[in-house]
Amino acid sequence: MSVLPPVRRDRIVGELPQCFTKEACLHTRDSFHHTVSSACKQQRTGTVGFKISKVIVVGDLSVGKTCLINRFCKDTFDKNYKATIGVDFEMERFEILGVPFSLQLWDTAGQERFKCIASTYYRGAQAIVITFDLSDISSLEHSKQWLRDALKENDPSSVLLFLVGSKKDLCSSSEYALMEKDALRVAKEMQAEYWSVSSLTGENVKEFFFRIASLTFESSVLAELEKTNARKIGEVVRINSNDTNLFQMSKKNKSKCCQ
Ligand code: GDP
Ligand code: MG
Repeated sequence: MSVLPPVRRDRIVGELPQCFTKEACLHTRDSFHHTVSSACKQQRTGTVGFKISKVIVVGDLSVGKTCLINRFCKDTFDKNYKATIGVDFEMERFEILGVPFSLQLWDTAGQERFKCIASTYYRGAQAIVITFDLSDISSLEHSKQWLRDALKENDPSSVLLFLVGSKKDLCSSSEYALMEKDALRVAKEMQAEYWSVSSLTGENVKEFFFRIASLTFESSVLAELEKTNARKIGEVVRINSNDTNLFQMSKKNKSKCCQ
């Protein structure tokens, strides 16, 4: 019996959502990895459908992290600033290539003001979303420090990174163009995928989270397949080495007993 709520109809992903801009795209394929799609077709995705992937959203106070999560999860926008208090995470359920997949979106509960986010907040993330305000260059400058802090608790080789410029609606197109140049440079240095969004208008918000869900799903399935393959190889090696050991042991024992 399943206790999970049913997937919302609009959270169903059938193909890899594309990156917002080609220049910031680190994963250049335009469809899911073929081993992933065939594993999904044959329902060989192991425990992926039962696991929950953790996404942490970091960045300066008031850059729009809570509004971004609320726009996606609740489709709401509140113009009045309310400091996040006590909210830990929101859960979103997806169905990707027919496989259920859940994202846990972690919001900071006001700790960003003091830069003392507990390591449990950072730990075990599959994706890190570093948010900055497109109308405030200092928040972009601080983004590298946010990344450094978040990476202390995570494996840099496996975690997916996203640099997100928020409040796009506040910029004129010329202001935006200037900011985007800097943001693309920072994203490249970080090895992150760059996006720009507006939680007020909703521009790019759904596309962005679908992209995170799809890329974390893809890497989870690949890791799961690797684990299964390693186990198979491990078993063969174990049998062989046991055989050899047994043989050597019995030879040793024999020689001991004959002495
Ligand atoms: P947090 O501290 O990073 O969680 O920031 P919040 O999400 O609470 O947002 C801080 C302030 O920015 C609030 O007053 C929001 O109304 C405003 N804000 C957030 N996102 C947007 C946006 O996309 N456009 C505009 N115009 N304002 C935004
Ligand atoms: Mg907040």
